Amino acid sequence: MPTGSLPSGPSRRTTLQGALATGALLGLSTPAALGQAAAPVVVIGGGFAGATCARSLKQADPGLAVTLVEPAERYLACPFSNLVVAGLRELDEQAFGYAGIAAAGVTIARQPAVAVDPERRRVRLGDGAELDYQRLVVAPGVDLRFDAIPGYDEAASERMPHAWKAGPQTELLRRQLGAMPDGGQVVMAVPANPFRCPPGPYERASLIAHYLKTHKPRAKLIILDAKDQFSKQRLFEEAWAELYPGLIEWVSLSFGGQVTEVDPGANTLVTEFGSHRADVANVIPPQRAGAIAALAGVADATGWCPIDPVTFESTLVPGIHVIGDAAIGGAMPKSAFSANAQAKACAAAIIHLVREEAPPTPKLINTCYSLVAPDYGISIAGVYAPKDGLLAEVEGAGGVSPLEAPAAVRQAEAAYAEAWFRTVTDEVFG
Ligand code: FAD
Repeated sequence: MPTGSLPSGPSRRTTLQGALATGALLGLSTPAALGQAAAPVVVIGGGFAGATCARSLKQADPGLAVTLVEPAERYLACPFSNLVVAGLRELDEQAFGYAGIAAAGVTIARQPAVAVDPERRRVRLGDGAELDYQRLVVAPGVDLRFDAIPGYDEAASERMPHAWKAGPQTELLRRQLGAMPDGGQVVMAVPANPFRCPPGPYERASLIAHYLKTHKPRAKLIILDAKDQFSKQRLFEEAWAELYPGLIEWVSLSFGGQVTEVDPGANTLVTEFGSHRADVANVIPPQRAGAIAALAGVADATGWCPIDPVTFESTLVPGIHVIGDAAIGGAMPKSAFSANAQAKACAAAIIHLVREEAPPTPKLINTCYSLVAPDYGISIAGVYAPKDGLLAEVEGAGGVSPLEAPAAVRQAEAAYAEAWFRTVTDEVFG
């Protein structure tokens, strides 16, 4: 194993020999036995990317041995978790189990992957077990960079939650909003690109504003942003002026939005232009690919993983594919919709590569819905294809919701958002 400290434990390697011997005993023809045993695919991470990929692989070729490595018993989805923050939805409604994926024939290893040996094509799990692979898919999502903002570390996130991974952090932020006095101040810190879900912070600001308007009408919300522009900006700003006049203040990079330091003791966020004391501070730090990506050698100096846009195979380590938030998706944003689309394209490529056929060139779609209020949705859509070694946007194929649209259009988009979430979670986890 190349890097990382590994816990000790029994070594139970999944070997070809065992499977081949079983095939021989059962009298299977050699190609069938070889087909099953010679092409094990291991997928690390059971989120939108990894779970979709494992399931798609098995669907496309039931003979393929596919193992999904995921330590969590249930997956807590981030899309719609801003509704949980705003008290409009329960966290349990974000939870999905892996029984459907297991029933589809995928072997689930309820362990973290702790190391990858690309030479031997072997993954080591937290309990010491080892899995051999012919193709490995790495889909660990993001890690929060707790070294990026002075004063902000994991302990500080208990006072100034990021809530950028659905779970206890989401509920903490919701509780803090509930406990905040009317007339109090919420301050959000938003990172520069790239990060998970580009419109997500502004959807969150909108839904927090909805909560404040309804429950604490004298409160204010300041967004300190490390950039000068953001996704669906004109649509958000139009909606804020209409629904939450005077409630949300967005401070761009040029006007002192970059948070340079935080003081969790005083609940203060510092910028070059001054400091802001918060009653509730939501600090979303910069991110990078989940740690196992670096351990596998597929992350570059940016912390993200460069890939071939046709196969999603790492450009750094052969035999390892990276999908979802962890990958450098070119123009494709880091979203659950993208992760799901990339996973299917990656599965198709792997099926072809295992059969030693040329993989097809994918065309990928992403749509990001955002709720500005429970019955007010907006969206941005794009189509992406490989170009010059990256996933590039296909000119003229995407679009955003219209400005100045009637309420019925916004209501319809809120319903589409809900329908998308129901459909994708049912497809992946159902
Ligand atoms: P994840 O969903 O994070 O899954 C990664 C999985 O890998 C996890 O289950 C983790 O446990 C596992 N893992 C990590 N390391 C290991 C390891 N070493 N071994 C084994 N398993 C491991 N996207 C949308 O499309 N629409 C939205 O409306 C939307 N809203 C969002 C709102 C918020 C507030 C946030 C934060 C995000 C939102 N997103 C949305 C983005 C979306 O959640 C992510 O883009 C998506 O989850 C990425 O999927 P992924 O599989 O790459 O990563």
